[in-house]
Amino acid sequence: MTRRPKNAFRLYCTDVWAGIYTTCVGLGVTIRYLFGKNVTMLYPEVRPEIPPTHRGLHALDESKCILCRLCATNCPVGCIAIESAGKGKTGMVTRYDVDYSQCLFCNLCAEACPTKCLRLTEAYSMIRGRREDCVLRLARPKSQSEIDEHMVKLARREAEKKAASKEAPETP
Ligand code: SF4
Ligand code: SF4
Repeated sequence: MTRRPKNAFRLYCTDVWAGIYTTCVGLGVTIRYLFGKNVTMLYPEVRPEIPPTHRGLHALDESKCILCRLCATNCPVGCIAIESAGKGKTGMVTRYDVDYSQCLFCNLCAEACPTKCLRLTEAYSMIRGRREDCVLRLARPKSQSEIDEHMVKLARREAEKKAASKEAPETP
């Protein structure tokens, strides 16, 4: 026959008391949160208020873009892809893609932009099922005829500039 410890009843009472006490403490926390201020919301029916300093999805004002590519150069993970028809202020942005499967939302691209045409907005919702779908196209899609027309315009402007410089009288 095994001998029970001398203070077995005392131990039993201590355990029962510990059980009751911890249950009450747990319930106290639950009740406090039950009647306290809500910290969760019924998303997506209820949307959170996003502060203006939030770094969310990018927005590009391509009319101000001078195609300097400083944004892409400063991106630490190289997730910005730019293509253009022409260069500089006269160029046309034909592709401006951000790969959000890599983006760190660090804002270095927007900080580097000299014309402030790139910024990180308050937009945060971008639900995608596949990694390939995380690339967002920020530039307006252009048709081939629009690109060709732009290139012709650039070539004409260049030719006019050259002709004007030839006609200009040489300074002695
Ligand atoms: S926020 Fe950072 S990681 Fe994202 S595109 Fe800009 S520079 Fe690259
Ligand atoms: S840094 Fe600004 S102006 Fe230069 S290519 Fe990027 S978005 Fe355009």
